[in-house]
Amino acid sequence: MRHLSRRSFSALALSTLAAPFVARRALAAGEVNIYSARHYPADETLYGLFTKETGISINVIQGTAEELMERVKLEGESSPADVFVTVDAGNLWRAQEAGVFQPTKSALLDEKIPAHYHEPDGHWFGFSTRARVFVYDKRKVKPEEMSTYEDLADPKWKGRLLVRSSNNIYNQSLLASIIEHDGAEKAEAWAKGLVANFARDPKGGDIDQIKALVAGEGDVAISNTYYFARMLSSTKEEEKKGLENLAVFFPNQGDRGTHVNISGAGVATYAPNKDNAIAYLEFMAGAQAQEIFSGANFEYPVVAGSKVSDIVASWGDFKRDEVNVSALGRNNAEAVMIMDRADWR
Ligand code: FE
Repeated sequence: MRHLSRRSFSALALSTLAAPFVARRALAAGEVNIYSARHYPADETLYGLFTKETGISINVIQGTAEELMERVKLEGESSPADVFVTVDAGNLWRAQEAGVFQPTKSALLDEKIPAHYHEPDGHWFGFSTRARVFVYDKRKVKPEEMSTYEDLADPKWKGRLLVRSSNNIYNQSLLASIIEHDGAEKAEAWAKGLVANFARDPKGGDIDQIKALVAGEGDVAISNTYYFARMLSSTKEEEKKGLENLAVFFPNQGDRGTHVNISGAGVATYAPNKDNAIAYLEFMAGAQAQEIFSGANFEYPVVAGSKVSDIVASWGDFKRDEVNVSALGRNNAEAVMIMDRADWR
């Protein structure tokens, strides 16, 4: 499908005013340009389904969130980006601050996606979630010994915790949530207590913390749910060795709920195909897309009643922290400074 400039696009809309039905059909076709920092094979399935359903073809540009943000900034007003997709509310917030998004109004998105997974002005929306949980060694820890994120700063955990480094957005967002709930002062005391309980200097990603658990280097690891699910879903027996001794614990069930983060998207500021961009976002909130988009990475769908993968479902339902995810971005800079002062490397 030929690319229409915004000028020729509005000229087309005007010239067909007398025939609204035809105009609508013309507007419904065309293309949508997606800048995505998500790279899962199932995303391709999603694109195919969207085109089949709407006739709108999809062009995808992939990169890291930082690369794509830089690209949109350099392209300026002539950016072809229609939809910007990335993981973590911290990254979505940074993209918003960089001017990547324009606010979107959609009754369908408002209805289907819980309000706490929207940026309040509609700059971006969460389409799947991940919980940041404790994965623990059942031989060393009883579930009743664990309670909250806050409790991990207690000296009883000395030398027992496995957590990745502070330069990772997932831990920054976790700390941002603690700032939001407990205030900056308590959050800093918490970070210092947590660091004092580390089993080793932080290294590797969430999967490496779980592997260290298997190797007996610690008792409790902090990880996003999908990493553990991904390990459990492996078809190679050697990759699953030792995982039978591990289990998931959802913290803060007695108060605000477990910290969850999103994978999300919004309409780009200079989107040349804005209607198609909104159509794509609305498509992602549909039942089939929800199952594919979240299931591809063992995440949780955001739309109530959508199917969850069997491994993730086996952990049962849990209470989620319902603070608006934009708070994770708003508190990000403070979280990074606190981590620095707490010597969280
Ligand atoms: Fe991840």
